[in-house]
Amino acid sequence: MTARTAPWAPVPDPLPVPCFDAHTHLDMLTEPVERALAEASQAGITRVVTVGVDVPTSRWAADCAAAHGNVYAAVAIHPNDTARARDGLDSEGRPTGFAGTDEVLAEIARLAALPRVRAVGETGLDYYRDTAPPRLQREWFAAHIEIAKATGKALMIHDREAHDDVLAVLEEQGPPERVIFHCFSGGADLAKRCADAGYVMSFAGNLTFPSAVNLREAAEVAPADLILVETDAPYLTPVPNRGRQNAPAQVAHTLRAVAQVKRMDVADLAAAVAATGERVFGRWDDDQAGGPPR
Ligand SMILES: [Zn+2]
Ligand SMILES: [Zn+2]
Repeated sequence: MTARTAPWAPVPDPLPVPCFDAHTHLDMLTEPVERALAEASQAGITRVVTVGVDVPTSRWAADCAAAHGNVYAAVAIHPNDTARARDGLDSEGRPTGFAGTDEVLAEIARLAALPRVRAVGETGLDYYRDTAPPRLQREWFAAHIEIAKATGKALMIHDREAHDDVLAVLEEQGPPERVIFHCFSGGADLAKRCADAGYVMSFAGNLTFPSAVNLREAAEVAPADLILVETDAPYLTPVPNRGRQNAPAQVAHTLRAVAQVKRMDVADLAAAVAATGERVFGRWDDDQAGGPPR
């Protein structure tokens, strides 16, 4: 059974202070967006950032954010999808109507400029999978950094087994003002390097897995004002719902786990994460295009 067909997870107890899910894929859930958002609200997760990985899902994310007052979007070509995107294909290998580096990146730049699109991502480097050569990934990552700078949006990085090169490309290119490492995958060492650079670390449900000692050590040393939490749903469902389908509501479990690691009050951490979210993605209510925030 894959994450996308796993049974839906029960809604966690509500958080004492509203918080949000910094990275999710609402388009990949088996349940309707409305249900995922309603259950998230019940758990105290009142905002979500839904993320694209190719041209069609980036457009979908932008449309979803335009239609829902409590959703913001991130748009990009995922590092693993760069070769397919260049060849005019989406992440499933279907034609997108956009081909060639310039045409595809121009469409991402157009979407990134929309008011309810608040981040350029997920972009970055993934040396775990080999669907795109590292050189091509680095080229497209650099181009996404430029789009983030040109549009003034946050940069949302996917970094898998590529920490040193991700930091090197950021350094070479000159990082945008706001940088987020989504699904933070390093240990205390990388957390310190990110903290020194002012990069935000977004922890996902895998922090709750018993084996993930390095992620908990990273969360322990990460400054509370540089921490976000995310689901990356439908993947990486946190304890106690492993084996079920992840959804934005589940980030409440991850937030509680991070609070425990940092020996912080859950309410204090939720408030800090919500404030960091507004700092990196912009104020939730400064654009009414999707109706008033709910
Ligand atoms: Zn990712
Ligand atoms: Zn993702």
